[in-house]
Amino acid sequence: MDLAYWLGQAVEEIQEWTGGWEAFDPHPATAVDEDALREAFTDLTRRLAGSYPFFHPGYAGQMLKPAHPVAVVGHLAAMLINPNNHALDGGPATSALEEEAVGELAAMFGIDPFLGHLTSSGTIANLEALFVARESHPGRAVAFSSEAHYTHARMCRLLGVPTRVVAADRGGRMDLDALERLLALGGVGTIVATTGTTGLGAVDPVHEIVPLARRYGARVHVDAAYGGFFTLLAHAREVALIPPHPWNAIAHCDSVVIDPHKHGLQPYGCGAVLFADPGVARFYDHDSPYTYFTSPQRHLGEISLECSRSGAAAAALWLTQKLLPLTEHGLGACLAAGRRAALRWADLIDRSQHLDLFQPPALDIVSYFPRVRPAALSSIDGASHRLMENGMARRPNPVYVSVSRVGAHAFALRHPEVRPDRDDARILRSVLMKPEAELYLDRLHARVEDLARTGTEPGDVQPSDPTSEDAAR
Ligand SMILES: *Cc1c(COP(=O)(O)O)cnc(C)c1O
Repeated sequence: MDLAYWLGQAVEEIQEWTGGWEAFDPHPATAVDEDALREAFTDLTRRLAGSYPFFHPGYAGQMLKPAHPVAVVGHLAAMLINPNNHALDGGPATSALEEEAVGELAAMFGIDPFLGHLTSSGTIANLEALFVARESHPGRAVAFSSEAHYTHARMCRLLGVPTRVVAADRGGRMDLDALERLLALGGVGTIVATTGTTGLGAVDPVHEIVPLARRYGARVHVDAAYGGFFTLLAHAREVALIPPHPWNAIAHCDSVVIDPHKHGLQPYGCGAVLFADPGVARFYDHDSPYTYFTSPQRHLGEISLECSRSGAAAAALWLTQKLLPLTEHGLGACLAAGRRAALRWADLIDRSQHLDLFQPPALDIVSYFPRVRPAALSSIDGASHRLMENGMARRPNPVYVSVSRVGAHAFALRHPEVRPDRDDARILRSVLMKPEAELYLDRLHARVEDLARTGTEPGDVQPSDPTSEDAAR
């Protein structure tokens, strides 16, 4: 896809639309000097070059990648108009696009009927779900696993909702026995299940949590901010890359959050929350003296906690879902590539002399650590950190991985042979969310393995490239 051409098309088409209105003069107050612009813009692009190369498969660190060019074009076209999806007064066209795009998300999960909307992030989407949890079951607690995103504890504090933390098992999933013991004590109103934890990509057994919750009269909210789009692989007819049951059970939950700005190829500013009971709209009731005048239809601001919200985010998501639809062979193919890469990397790490797998990947996040002798949390912690730093300093072809902190108990569940000489340790974590990871994996693995083999001393930087075939390119 020729991005420059399509960006030009976006500008041209919108100029054609604005040009259809009566002509007027732009105010001189908004005029800018082209030379000054050139200078400042040069400065800007120079400073942007200080970013990490998220676009490159050698960047296998955090949950970061550029938006798809289709999303960029859709976003730009709408951004030139700058609609606000708070109300139909602010974004009549983009509100309709939002409803269609969100309808496709709900259909992917099999939630029908539903109430839902986009948000500016997964954090805000979860806040809304927790707000509805509080309003639905006032005075009762929200339970989540020790591996849940920290936002749940923080937002419950903000909402004044009591919380209960459920232990995780050796796969990083919510422990069902611990959950049942907690539910038997009473007082839990909502359970948060996470399908794709931010740290390890663990998938809570939603299909087992739902019947337990129902037995004790609790609601279930699913935080699928990271993993939600893996539903496309669970429904895949051809190759089973992940077990389907937790994903199929989302249709039977009370709410779910998904972040199109993570696996949905969108620029930041695009989360979503869906509720199975459209009646929860009553908790959002409010009056606005400023908006909601152009249409008696429901405005998105009447069912969301945020006010101003980018209509461009909806346009970008809508356009992307047209080209890469929410099917196994549409967007699903992007997730499948990352999943296959994670499976194959786990296998390579398993057979490596220099790396150990922390736990098998459930999605596309691989957790591992350098093999150090004697094996102790302190030496693993130091070696992981050094590998991350040496990887970034490596020339040519730096390697970007991230680290994650794991408690001694969680470590002992998986690797009892490692001496717990401190409370926690950093391990390595690589999010393979770019499909290109699949094609690049051999180079990535060889480099990480080499860093693990040689980087035992602080400050060691690898001069040689074990995969020098790119040096020849
Ligand atoms: C990323 C993430 C969040 C927070 O979402 P933001 O879009 O970063 O605000 C919440 N829960 C999980 C599981 C996540 O991965």
